[in-house]
Amino acid sequence: MTEAGGVDSLYWWHDTAAGGDVHVAFTSVRAGNLARHVGDEDVEQIEVRRRALQQRMGVEPGTLRFLDQVHSATVLDAAAHPASPGAAPTGDAWFSRAGAEPLAIMVADCLPVLMVGRTASGGTSRAPGGEALVTAAAHAGRAGLLDGVLENTVAALHEYGAERIQAWIGPGACGSCYEVPAAMRDELAVRRPAIASETTWGTPALDLRSEAEEVLRGRGVEVRQLAGCTIEDDTLFSHRRAPGEGRFAGLVWRAR
Ligand SMILES: [Zn+2]
Ligand SMILES: [Zn+2]
Repeated sequence: MTEAGGVDSLYWWHDTAAGGDVHVAFTSVRAGNLARHVGDEDVEQIEVRRRALQQRMGVEPGTLRFLDQVHSATVLDAAAHPASPGAAPTGDAWFSRAGAEPLAIMVADCLPVLMVGRTASGGTSRAPGGEALVTAAAHAGRAGLLDGVLENTVAALHEYGAERIQAWIGPGACGSCYEVPAAMRDELAVRRPAIASETTWGTPALDLRSEAEEVLRGRGVEVRQLAGCTIEDDTLFSHRRAPGEGRFAGLVWRAR
């Protein structure tokens, strides 16, 4: 469902999965900038917004985890990195066994990818109700995507027992807007043909969304595309359209 008003407007999109137990969402600009080190914003102001978001999510304040993202392909186990207001672990994807930790991933043109993995036949993370479950959130920009951040995240979920994985590819710069030099597009297209695209004005571009879907489907993941484009939709933050304004978040958490 798409929500557009009241406190629900903190979300650009929000839905539930795994029998309504797991929530997946992307914030809108109305949730404000959620990232430190963007522009010259006061850190306390960002903490105020993060607390409001956690209240809306219905999770314990201070439990929502944020990463220090560096466009790598590093995947972390959230259980090994307790939430701490002053520090964030460095990495670009993470997973939570049994969905125990609420996860955030921040973006503004890169793709936020949320995942829920399940197994009926037993895994290391056994959810109430007898079905094992593992959640994940990944930051898939050009660098991370090409270095394998999605492959690594899917592999981590498999390692923790997931047999069926659902993924939601959230809003990012679309293949008709993400202009790059011709040499870059042509070189990347040799290895990853799905990434080659063209802008609406006829110049070389990259389609990260198509490439992400290609990678995930190739590993048997069930993909849901949310077609929003950050450059075209001003209810989302975009680094290319408005540098320094902020980051929105992809969120995956379990209802308490
Ligand atoms: Zn990014
Ligand atoms: Zn676009």
